[in-house]
Amino acid sequence: MKDLFKSWKTVSAKIKKSTSIFLLLDFDGTLCPIVNHPDLVEVDRDIKSILKKLNRTKGIILGFVSGRPVADVKKHLKLKDVYYVGNHGLELKKPKSRKVEILSENKIKKSLKLLKDIVGILRKKIKPYEGVWLEDKKYSLSLHYRMADKKNALIAKRIFGEVTHEIEKKKLVRVTKGKKVLEIRLPQNQNKGTAVLKLKKMHLKEAPVLIYLGDDVTDEDVFEVMSKRDVSIHIGTNKKSKAMYKLKNVKAVAGFLKKVYCLQTGEADA
Ligand SMILES: [Mg+2]
Repeated sequence: MKDLFKSWKTVSAKIKKSTSIFLLLDFDGTLCPIVNHPDLVEVDRDIKSILKKLNRTKGIILGFVSGRPVADVKKHLKLKDVYYVGNHGLELKKPKSRKVEILSENKIKKSLKLLKDIVGILRKKIKPYEGVWLEDKKYSLSLHYRMADKKNALIAKRIFGEVTHEIEKKKLVRVTKGKKVLEIRLPQNQNKGTAVLKLKKMHLKEAPVLIYLGDDVTDEDVFEVMSKRDVSIHIGTNKKSKAMYKLKNVKAVAGFLKKVYCLQTGEADA
């Protein structure tokens, strides 16, 4: 992975060549630092302001891709007429539509019922352990242990393993890991990558260059479906990331977005 700022010449040339760019960003860890509880997240004024500007800029199609539900990300960013992909690629809200589409809704009914049962079981089991809590996102489930001490974190992982082992083996659900969070997702092979690929194809003619920024393991699914003419950017220090470029942190993301804005508008400063 190359440092994006050091490779700016190459990247800016790619952007310049494309009539429009398709700019998609992950939320947690990319647009805002990761916090102890998802509800406590705050998007910096600087980021909010540059996103607003980018959204008004010609030649940029903007969107956000998160493990959070669409409604949640929308609440924090308050941007209209952008793409929102939520629940790891299961939910999609298009710019001009008010509705959140559920990708492959009829196929997931059975799995949803199972997920509901698991919520009940897990809630009961983790109750005695401080710092461990469950986030029910309807189409997926997150067991958080960021706030737990070492002992309780271990217990949380053990309980999670016990509850999911059998059903995972039978492929009734999928289990994934994030940063201090374990997740149960539907077995359908829907992820951030499949959702982004779908959007990319929709806009390939007008916006042949896709830029995607993400910090976590789940963003790797997106990096995998990107092509050489795209710009994949890992936020953070995971050396195993398949992205072409890296940026250090959220602050660097803001810096990058400003550069893109200046490039597309010809303005000297964002
Ligand atoms: Mg993230």
